[in-house]
Parts: sequence; C-alpha cells; structure tokens
Amino acid sequence: MMNSNNKQINRLVYVPLLVAAMLGIAGCSANPATGEQSFTAFMSPEREKEVGREEHPKILKAFGGVYDDHEIGAYVANLGARLSQHSEMPELVWTFSVLNDSKINAFALPGGYVYITRGLLSLASNEAEVAGVLSHEIGHVTARHSAQRYSTTVATSIGLQVLGALGSAAGIPSAAGNVAAVGAQAALQSYSRDQELQSDMLGVRYMTRAGYDPDAMTSFFTKLRAHQRIEGLMVGKPDAAEQSNIMATHPRTAERIEQAIKLASEAQNGTPDGRKRLNGDEYLAKIDGMIFGDDIEQGIIRGNSFIHPVMKIRYDVPDGFRLFNSPVNVVAKKNDEAVIVFDGANPEDVKKATSLKNYVTNYWATGLSIRDLENININGMSAVTGTSVLNSKNGRRDIRVVAIQDPDGPVYRLLFITDPIKTAELNLPLRNATYSFRKLTETEAKSVKPYRIKLYKIRANDTPASLSAMLEVSEFKDEWMEVLNAIKPDSVLAPGTTIKLIGE
Ligand SMILES: [Zn+2]
Repeated sequence: MMNSNNKQINRLVYVPLLVAAMLGIAGCSANPATGEQSFTAFMSPEREKEVGREEHPKILKAFGGVYDDHEIGAYVANLGARLSQHSEMPELVWTFSVLNDSKINAFALPGGYVYITRGLLSLASNEAEVAGVLSHEIGHVTARHSAQRYSTTVATSIGLQVLGALGSAAGIPSAAGNVAAVGAQAALQSYSRDQELQSDMLGVRYMTRAGYDPDAMTSFFTKLRAHQRIEGLMVGKPDAAEQSNIMATHPRTAERIEQAIKLASEAQNGTPDGRKRLNGDEYLAKIDGMIFGDDIEQGIIRGNSFIHPVMKIRYDVPDGFRLFNSPVNVVAKKNDEAVIVFDGANPEDVKKATSLKNYVTNYWATGLSIRDLENININGMSAVTGTSVLNSKNGRRDIRVVAIQDPDGPVYRLLFITDPIKTAELNLPLRNATYSFRKLTETEAKSVKPYRIKLYKIRANDTPASLSAMLEVSEFKDEWMEVLNAIKPDSVLAPGTTIKLIGE
C-alpha cells in the first residue's frame, strides 16, 4: 500500500489527446515486422513515441516505480537492447524498465517502452526465458499492437468512472479499477489471440537471432500456468486467477506457443552460430538477493498480519481471512462472508474536516447513513467507528467503518463488509482485528525484512519435499517450488544444480 494521495492521476489531460488523435491522420501502411497492411487509425510513429514518453512516468508510478537495483536494471536494459537490435526497429530508442512489483507481468507502450516486473524475473530460471518475454513484448511494439490497443483504450475510457473505495470494496477491487491512468489501463488490457500468436512468432524470431533457445518460451509458460494455480488456490477458487497479471494481459495457450515456434522459420533453421543458449547460472547469479514478494515500502504480509515498517503500523486479521496487498489498499477476505479493506485517507480531506467524526460522515462514507458513530481509543490512538448498510450487487451487506488518527499525522481507514447472516458471528473477531491495530516501535520497524531470492545447490540427499520445506513462504510450498524451479513432488533431482529458494 502506498500513500493514498498519489493514487489518482487526473484523466482530464486525455481529452485533448483524444481530440488530437481523432484529428490525426489515419492511414494504411505495410508493417515491416508482419508485412501486413495495418490500419493504425489513431497514431503515427511520431505520435507513438510521444505517447510512450508521456505515459512512461505514470506507468512507473502506478506499478511500484523502478526496482531499486542498478545491476538488475542494467542487465535487463542490456538484454532488451540486444534483442531489439534483431527486430525490424533497431533504430528506435528502446526503454526497458524493471518494475518494483511482485505481480508477474510484462507489457509495452507504443514507442518502444517495455516493462517487466521483478515478480516475473523471480519466476525465470535462465536468461533465455527472460529473453523470450522481452522479445514477445518487442513484438507487440514492432507489430504495432500496443499502438492499436492504446488507441482503443483512449477512445473508450473517456467518461469512465473511477470507483471510490466504498464502491469498489463491494467486490474485490482490481488494480485495473483503481488505476486511473489511461496508459495503465491500456497496459492492463489483453491482446487478441491473433496478436498473441503474432508476437510469439516475432519473439521466437528475435530471441533465436540473438542466439537463445526458443523452447524457453514454452518452459516459462509452464511456470506461469503453475503460478496461476497458486493464485486460484489463494482465493479458494482453483479456476480463478488474478485479472491484472501476464496471463490476463497476454491470453495464450501452450499449443499456440508451440505453433508459433513451428511457424517462425528461423527457429527451425537454428540460431546463427548453431548454438541455443539458456544461460541459467549466469542469470541466477544476477537475481541472487532480489526482493521476492512485497517490498517493505509497500508493506508486507506475514501470515495473518499486515506490517508496514515505513508507516510503522501493524494489524492482524482473524483466522480464516487471507490478506492481499496492492498499491492502493490492503484487502482481507474470508470466502464470500466478509471483506476488510484497509487504506489511508486523502490528507487533503483530513485537513478540511473539522473532526475525525466529521471526516467519516462528510468526506469518507458520504453515500451512506452512518449509525452509532462513536469515539474510541485504539492502543492510545483516537479513532471513530460507526455502522451502516450497503446494497451491493451481491445483495445487502453490513458495513462498519473505523477511522484511526495516527499521532504522526495520517488517518487510516478500516472498512468491514459482512454478509448479514455472518455479522453477529464475526463481530468479536473483527473487533479484535480493529484493536490489534498499533504503532511499531523504531526497533520493531527496523527488524522487518522482505523476502529475497537465495540460491542453493542441490545436494545428494535432498528430496523435492526437503527442498520445498526450505522455502520460507507461509503456504503452498510445493506449488511455489514448481513455480520457481520446475521441481514437482515426484521430480528426479540432479545434485549440483542451482535452484532458487526464498528467505529473509
Ligand atoms: Zn502478449
């Protein structure tokens, strides 16, 4: 969770852009990558570069900023630059950025801006897998898919209402619903199946020309699918998955990737020097020590606790709830029975409010009639709480709001949404959650460490089970071992092989 005051980017600036785009010259031209006559209605190549430049800082802001590790950043930029030299647009000034985001994602903006998350880097086992992802994104740019998609998003997003916390909290808020920037929305939209197949073919072409084994595209896709299963397990629905990750933004199937590899003729002819590089150990050495999961600046989840060492706060959710962190809020969910949404109040609103009670009624829960509004004390901090009801698309929901005044300045907000038949039963556990909210001492805050990637060499007496037991993740250890290292419970191990572990 970041500070709430930077979560909205004014969309009004896009209205002139749309008008300019509509007045722009629409034309047909042969695409050098695909050879197709493509009708890119809104954007000239010059306009594409301009859009990329304008959106780039907003994308960085919306996705956790650039990951603060110069070595990894330079490594990815270098790899991307080399791959782009094998594309049809080697003269374009390409920009490759590693985002400080634990989600597994990669996307591109028009004009040669390519993004890859550190979450994605943690899944890859070799340079060829990363090269496959970057080449695929380069393919979306050279085939001008990102320009087409961007044009469509600009056209449809004008007038789109961005939901406030109360509205979006009726369901689980998605990153797409909370991120107001058009560029970010465009980045999170999915491509068509034909565009994916085309980008895979172009990706295979570029990575093969650069000397990498194109089968790495398939091995990485297998990891993505294994990761999708974990996401499903986390929400208690094995078939469900995150809507804002690479599987949602790049809808593909294993069959289509195989088809792309077959169709890309260079892959059949082999790489220029006949070698097919994976560069496994070189790659693992680069990501050794990289942060895995949430960074401390984003607050971290440990079991049932949310701990934010920078804001120096901590609270616990009851058993049966699972916590999800995002740049704009922290959501805890217990099946369909209850949701807890935690975030920070807009400091401007707090400044304008005459009291904490006034803040709740006039600035936060403005669409609700709050009952029994009372002052309470939570571990030495002034707080206000009240109840209400909300008619959501899933039926009536009981609401409790809690606003807490941090003596250091900010106001924090807890929103409890319960199914009416569960409200009484959950009353005590949720009350305990409220009163678990407390400030961390300086020493406590300093002792909070993020998880990191740690390399380990498989020994003769290791088993898949003993290896997954070494992962410091709190659940789904076997599944994470498969996602990180392609090692399943029945895999035969090769002693001496370097694998990735997770630890503080
Ligand atoms: Zn794609």
